[in-house]
Amino acid sequence: MAEYDYDLFVIGAGSGGVRASRVAASHGAKVAVAEEFRIGGTCVIRGCVPKKLLVYGSHFAEELQDAAHYGWTIDKMHFDWATLRDTVLRDVDRLETAYTNTLDSHKVEHFHERATIAGPHAVRLASGREVSARVILVATGAWPVMPHMEGSEHAITSNEVFHLPELPRRVLIQGAGYIAMEFAGVFNALGCHVTVVNRSDQILRGYDESLRDRLLQITMARGIEYRFHCPIKRLDKNAGGSVTAHFDKHDPIEADVVLVATGRSPNTSGLGLENAGVALGPKGEIPVDAYNRTSCESIYAVGDVTDRVQLTPVAIREGHAFADTVFGGNPRTIDYDCIPSAVFSQPPLAGVGLTEADARAHHGDIKVYSSDFRPMKNIFAERHERGLYKMIVCSETGKVLGVHMIGPEAPEILQAAAIAVKAGLTKADFDATVALHPSMAEELVLMR
Ligand code: NDP
Repeated sequence: MAEYDYDLFVIGAGSGGVRASRVAASHGAKVAVAEEFRIGGTCVIRGCVPKKLLVYGSHFAEELQDAAHYGWTIDKMHFDWATLRDTVLRDVDRLETAYTNTLDSHKVEHFHERATIAGPHAVRLASGREVSARVILVATGAWPVMPHMEGSEHAITSNEVFHLPELPRRVLIQGAGYIAMEFAGVFNALGCHVTVVNRSDQILRGYDESLRDRLLQITMARGIEYRFHCPIKRLDKNAGGSVTAHFDKHDPIEADVVLVATGRSPNTSGLGLENAGVALGPKGEIPVDAYNRTSCESIYAVGDVTDRVQLTPVAIREGHAFADTVFGGNPRTIDYDCIPSAVFSQPPLAGVGLTEADARAHHGDIKVYSSDFRPMKNIFAERHERGLYKMIVCSETGKVLGVHMIGPEAPEILQAAAIAVKAGLTKADFDATVALHPSMAEELVLMR
């Protein structure tokens, strides 16, 4: 008789949990995973994937507008929200099936119910069944934070935004981070009136300041309104279905949808972690060591629940490294240095490495190179928006410390540049590379 029912029990079938499950199973472990919502987790079901499809869908507005300059006349242009929404949701279903098939093909048992921790080696399922496992992995992700305000039930979060019954005429977005700026772009492109309100006077804290300024200017010119130092105090539902937001020092705003995007907090509430002595951090996160182990020897955690870097590819790497370490005889840790990231705003921005401000504060003597240019496609379409690429370089060694870009396709271009930054290449290495002409990416090797 085996000592435990499973070698590994994973709680949460999102990006990190699914990767850990299938890799551990491929190393020969007997694995089960429990998921209370849908297999795939935030990224696949209500995050990165459906968001990116909405970005693609809304971007046609710009392409169709520009198309006239290329000789295209399109009569009777019409956008139908229900068609886009339902097609996106069908794609989410397809991906959920693909993720489920992956678990099946690796013989990972899956339970569609909530699971909580009953002890260092014990998991209790919502059905009442208790199972044992040599190792438990918590990969429960994070959940949107709803700041305390009267009438918060009248607001939605990114969880609900993919299911709107109709396209709202007026959208009020609280927060100016990733989710806020991405959905501001989507709704603005689809013709909605968008107002962004934030508690501070910044958008996209953490990104390079010049890029944030550029995004602010372009999106304001596109019609997005901003109010800073303006947290919502109260939301009132009106007779016709709209919602009015009240603030301390600003006039009220009426909107058809109020989207709150003020960060995501680790999903640890009610998980039973105390039953196994798993310590929690101040934000409710699970602190782990470099090998993803919690304060309980037999319990590990990966992904957003650990509140290290809330990005899907990071959770996937952590899940993979955990499985290789614990079940593959290959102990390994993740390198968190130079993680590229992007905001799929319109236009998008992307960055890797140190921002100018960080480099000035922590690195010492630096040189900043930039290219502020109007992409050829924008000139042709009489679009005045300019792209901006920046390179932060160590004065002493010439090593590129960071690359930051805003403009069409910036995330697509940045991924390749991130390889060079991660590899520690110098400005001279970039300059030694012949430009690929005509492209926007060539600015990377032409910066002065
Ligand atoms: P972010 O952390 O990006 O931004 C949060 C925003 O809300 C900030 O503008 C912040 O203000 C404000 N805020 C924070 N707390 C409060 C509060 N209590 N009351 C009022 N305002 C508040 O969070 P998001 O929700 O946009 O996204 C969550 C995470 O999901 C991101 O951090 C990212 O890791 C991930 N994500 C990644 C994406 C990508 O890779 N493209 C896309 C979407 C999400 P302040 O100005 O003070 O910072």
